[in-house]
Amino acid sequence: MARRAKVGTTLTRSYVLLAACIMLFFTAGTGVVLFLQMRAQAEHFAIEDIETVEGLLAFDAKGDLVVRENYHNHIESKRVLDHYLEVLTPLGTILARNERLGTAELGERPAPDEGVGGYSPRRIRLADGTPVVLVSRFHVLDGHPILIRLALSEESAHRVVEFYAIAAALMFPLVIAAASLIARRMTSRILAPVQNIAARASQISSSNLNERIPTYGTGDEIDQLAEIFNETLTRLEESFRQLRQFTSDASHELRTPLAAIRAIGEVGLERDRTNQEYREMVGSMLEEVGRLTRLVNDLLMISRGDAGSIRLNLTSIRVMDMVRDTVALLEPLAEEKDQILEISGDRDAMTHGDPIFLRQALINVVDNAIKYSPAGAITRVRVNGNSGSAVEICVTDEGPGIAAEHTPHIFDRFYRVDAGRSRDAGGFGLGLAISQWAIGAHQGSITVSSAPGRGSTFRILLPVEEISD
Ligand code: ADP
Repeated sequence: MARRAKVGTTLTRSYVLLAACIMLFFTAGTGVVLFLQMRAQAEHFAIEDIETVEGLLAFDAKGDLVVRENYHNHIESKRVLDHYLEVLTPLGTILARNERLGTAELGERPAPDEGVGGYSPRRIRLADGTPVVLVSRFHVLDGHPILIRLALSEESAHRVVEFYAIAAALMFPLVIAAASLIARRMTSRILAPVQNIAARASQISSSNLNERIPTYGTGDEIDQLAEIFNETLTRLEESFRQLRQFTSDASHELRTPLAAIRAIGEVGLERDRTNQEYREMVGSMLEEVGRLTRLVNDLLMISRGDAGSIRLNLTSIRVMDMVRDTVALLEPLAEEKDQILEISGDRDAMTHGDPIFLRQALINVVDNAIKYSPAGAITRVRVNGNSGSAVEICVTDEGPGIAAEHTPHIFDRFYRVDAGRSRDAGGFGLGLAISQWAIGAHQGSITVSSAPGRGSTFRILLPVEEISD
């Protein structure tokens, strides 16, 4: 809950901050542009008007310089009188000042090149503090060199900018309030589906894993999130289903030997028995305990494999040596059934893996071949080190074969084609599942090709390890 609120607040804060920055930059930028434009305009007018002033000046009969205010009665002429005007000799002696300027000064002593070949525009403040843009023009009037100085007040430009800044400052809180309102609405709209997903997800537990998070079909990131979540739920549901199935199958399998031990005990206690009979009963019980132990060991191995808690001790393995060991171990079983185990193939093929787990995987396959084949059958184990990047071990038997509808399932846990026959043979339906896990953990694979009545061939592929000379 706290995290959701935090994301919303962060988003709102960032948006408001962004809006504030944009407004500040925009206001400052436009203010500066406006101010500079007004200044440039004032400079432009000053230059324009100083030209007009040239035509308004004249020396009267007494030799004094006068400004003819009614010159052609032009609007420009009148406008000039609103500006500050000062005419002086190049040495700085004042010849005339207009009424607006009065006794104030338009700058210091003239610079030697002031107003020559240009207007020498500059900004000064009058004695009363008025900011002005000042232009100068050197001119020769009736043979007398004079310097005309004309200044335009920039107060209006300053006032406009001031007004603009005040207006912007007043607008600022309103804009921020509007931005935060919009941001809050926007974030709550964006986060609403996420909150919805979180709310639905928090209600899902192992008992209602079939429930799904609603998607809106928009295909946006939120919808993708919901879909990914749903896919995860589907996988979890399947894992839970398999786990329940496994637990139920395991309990079922455990019940059989336990029931047998109990039955043997109960029958044994019904009446007094001879020592020989007791011995036989204890023997039968131990047989069931042995079966139980094997089952528990298999279950333990599978659950440790699932939990990923098995660490493989990898080492170089000569595949043929591993095959020989396996066959030697199972030879007595084959002999019991008058069967023959044959080994052939490459002696030098090497793989890299954990010998304990790979041997167990092979034992399970060869053990099945013996278990399901009739007396006198031959089981052939062939090693092929020349099939590319893998070492191949093929276990071919002369057993009953497996029908096509069963082959995709024989590696499933507790799956038995003929449960009765398998159980009689001591199987729990876990052997091939363990083999597949162990070989898969070595990046290998195990497949079967079989047809009823034509035996089966189990093909194990393991990564090859090149022998360095
Ligand atoms: P089990 O302990 O029952 O043998 P497995 O996982 O080893 O369990 O095998 C699963 C099932 O696949 C067996 O019950 C059997 O029906 C079938 N199967 C396995 N290997 C062979 C084989 N070589 N020939 C015929 N059927 C086989």
